[in-house]
Amino acid sequence: MEGALTARDRVGIQDFVLLDPYTSESAFLTNLRKRFNENLIYTYIGTLLVSVNPYKELGIYSTKQMDTYMGVNFFELPPHLFALADNAYRTMLSETNNHFILISGESGAGKTEASKKILQFYAASCPRTRLLDNVRDRLLLSNPVLEAFGNAKTLKNDNSSRFGKYMDIQFDFQGEAVGGHILSYLLEKSRVVHQNHGERNFHIFYQLVEGGDDELLRWLGLERNPQHYTYLVQGECAKVSSINDKNDWKTVQKALAVIDFSETDIESLFGIIASVLHLGNVRFDADARGYATLSNGSEVHWLSQLLGIRAQVLQEGLTHRKIEAREEQVLSPFTIEHAVYARDALAKAVYGRTFTWLVNKINESLANKDSSRKTVIGLLDIYGFEVFHVNSFEQFCINYCNEKLQQLFIQLTLKSEQEEYETEGIEWETVPYFNNKIICDLVEEKHRGIISVLDEECLRPGEATDLTFLQRLEEKIIGHPHFITHKLADQKTRKTLERGDFRLLHYAGEVTYCVVGFLDKNNDLLYRNVKDVMRQSKNFIVKQCFPSTEPDTKKRPETVATQFKSSLAGLADILMAKEPWYVRCLKPNDAKQPGRFDDVLVRHQVKYLGLMEHLRVRRAGFAYRRRFEVFLQRYKPLCPDTWPNWKGPPAEGVERLVKHLGYAPDEYKMGKTKIFIRHARTLFATEDAYEVCK
Ligand code: ADP
Ligand code: MG
Repeated sequence: MEGALTARDRVGIQDFVLLDPYTSESAFLTNLRKRFNENLIYTYIGTLLVSVNPYKELGIYSTKQMDTYMGVNFFELPPHLFALADNAYRTMLSETNNHFILISGESGAGKTEASKKILQFYAASCPRTRLLDNVRDRLLLSNPVLEAFGNAKTLKNDNSSRFGKYMDIQFDFQGEAVGGHILSYLLEKSRVVHQNHGERNFHIFYQLVEGGDDELLRWLGLERNPQHYTYLVQGECAKVSSINDKNDWKTVQKALAVIDFSETDIESLFGIIASVLHLGNVRFDADARGYATLSNGSEVHWLSQLLGIRAQVLQEGLTHRKIEAREEQVLSPFTIEHAVYARDALAKAVYGRTFTWLVNKINESLANKDSSRKTVIGLLDIYGFEVFHVNSFEQFCINYCNEKLQQLFIQLTLKSEQEEYETEGIEWETVPYFNNKIICDLVEEKHRGIISVLDEECLRPGEATDLTFLQRLEEKIIGHPHFITHKLADQKTRKTLERGDFRLLHYAGEVTYCVVGFLDKNNDLLYRNVKDVMRQSKNFIVKQCFPSTEPDTKKRPETVATQFKSSLAGLADILMAKEPWYVRCLKPNDAKQPGRFDDVLVRHQVKYLGLMEHLRVRRAGFAYRRRFEVFLQRYKPLCPDTWPNWKGPPAEGVERLVKHLGYAPDEYKMGKTKIFIRHARTLFATEDAYEVCK
C-alpha cells in the first residue's frame, strides 16, 4: 500500500472512489489517462470495473496472473478483470445465488476480449475432475466457432460481433464448471449479401476459401480466391493484415471436433457455406419478355449438388413466384430486379437459420444432463453502440439494444440503489442522473413507438414504402425531444439532415438513420415456394432449418424488430433475477492504435455511460449491504454474544456483532432490514476473520 501511495502521482488511483476531488470530470479523466499511459488499463469504481482498450498485448492474462488473482480479496491487488471474475465466482459459491457480468461499451471497446478472458479464467480457476475437462474445453472452444460465423470486420473493429451473446456458465455446488448455455440475439444477416466499403462478410467465408484444403474446395466447387465471389468483395477488402484466415480456419476445425461435430455435420455445414457463395454468383438475364432467366447454369449445378435439390426445381424457385389463385397455383415469373431480391433473401435466410442451428448444436454439446442444483454466472457480450456514416435498420436495432442495457444499468444501480437508501430510512441526498427511459419508450412503446409505426407500415404491402414510414413517424412522434427529421428540424439542423433520414438523440449521442430498407428488413420475407424448394433439400442441416412443420405462412409472422424487442425483454428478465457485476469498456481512440488516449473521445464515453453519476452514488453511499439475518448467520461465530445462537431481534444481534468487531460508527449504518457498510475493505476484514475462526 505504501508503495502504491508514493507512486500515486505516476500511476494514478486504482479506485475512483478514493479520488480527491472526486466530482470533477477532468480529475476522473486525468486519472484514467495516467493509468493508461502506464499500461494500467483497469480502474475500479467500487466493484465496477472500468477498462480502457490498450490495443496491444500487455501480458496480463497469463496463467500466473490467474493464479495471483484466485481467491484473493478484491482490493488487495491492483484492479483486474480476473479480480472481478473471481469475486463474482466466490460470492456465488458462498451465497449460493446466480450472478451476471454485464460487459458494455461501444464497438471496439474490448467487450468480446473481456468476455473471453473471463471464460478462460473460470476454465483455469475452478476445481477440476478429469471427467469434466471436456466441458471446460467445449465452453472455451464454442468461442472461435461462434466468432467465425457471427463476427466480421467492420470499420470500427476488425473482429466485430454481429450478434448478441448471453452465455450462462453453470457451476455445481463445489464450484466446478459443469455446463453452459448460449442465447444469441439478432444476427446481422444483411451482411451475407452486402458489405459497406472497408467491411467484410462473416469471417467463416474467407476462412473456408483461404484455409480449406484442395480436396474440400474441389468437392464444394469453390475457387481459392475470395475475389471470385460477389458476396465477398463488396467492401473491397477481402484481405486484412490483422486477420489470418488460414490459421483461424485451423482453429475452427479443431474446435468443431471438440464440440462434437461429426463428419456429416461438418460436411453439411460447409456445403451450406459454399452454397451461399455459389448463390451470390448466380446471375440473371432478361428473356424476350423482360423476365429473369439464369445466365449461367454452373452455379445452379453446384447448388443442386451441395443442397441435394434438383436443378430444375432450384431454377424455377429462383426465377418464379408461386401465386395461389382460387383453387390453383400459378407460376409468376420474376423481373431481374425481383429475382436478385429473392436470391439475396434466400442467402440471408439460409445463413441466418444455419447460425441458429449452430448455436443449438453448441448448446447440446454444453448441456449438463445432471439435474442437481447448479448456480450460474451469466456473461453478456452484445454488439456495442454504433454510428457509421450511413446508419440503417441494423444500427437502429443495435443502438436500441444498447439503450435497453443502459436502462437496466440505471435501474439496477442509480435508481434502485438510491431508492433502497430511502426505503431503508438511510439519510441520503439524491444524485441526479439522465434516465434514458424516454428513449427506450420512443422506440418500443405500443402504438406510438417507432417499432409500432414500422410494423403498421409493414402491414400495408404494396402501399407503404420507406418514405411513407417516415411520414407516419413524423405525424405520430412530432415534438419528441429525442426525435427529429428534415421536416421537423429547425433551420440550422435541417441542413444536416437528408429528406429520407430521421435522427435519434441516443443516450450515447446523435445517430442519423436512413430509412431506405427499413420495411424490407423488418418484414424479412421469404417466398413460400422458396421455402418449399428448400424443404426438399437432402442436406440435413437445411432440412432442420426449413422444417415442413413450420407455422402456416399465411399467418403473419412477427416482424424482426418486434421479435428483437421481445427477446430483449426476455433478456432483461433473465438478468434482473441475478446479482449484477459491471465491466465498462472504453475506447481510447478511433484509429485502433496503441498508446493513443483521445481526451475528447474518452470524456464523451465517461459522460454517456453515467460513470460520474455512478461514482457519486458509490462515494456517498455504501459499498455493501446485507440483510440482518444473512449477516448474522454468517458472522455470528465472531462474537461471544451471538454464538452459537442469537435469540433476540436480528438488528440488535448485528449491532452487538459489529461493536464487538470494532466497526467505526461512521463505517456502517443500520437500515430497517439491512446493515449498510461503507467500504468493501471493512467487510473483507470481517470475512478474513471469519475464515480464520472457521
Ligand atoms: P468489442 O467486442 O467491444 O467490439 P473487441 O473485444 O472485439 O471489441 O476488441 C477489439 C480489438 O481490440 C480486439 O480485436 C483486440 O485487438 C483489441 N483489444 C480489446 N481488448 C483488449 C485487451 N484487453 N488487450 C489487448 N487488446 C485488446
Ligand atoms: Mg464484440
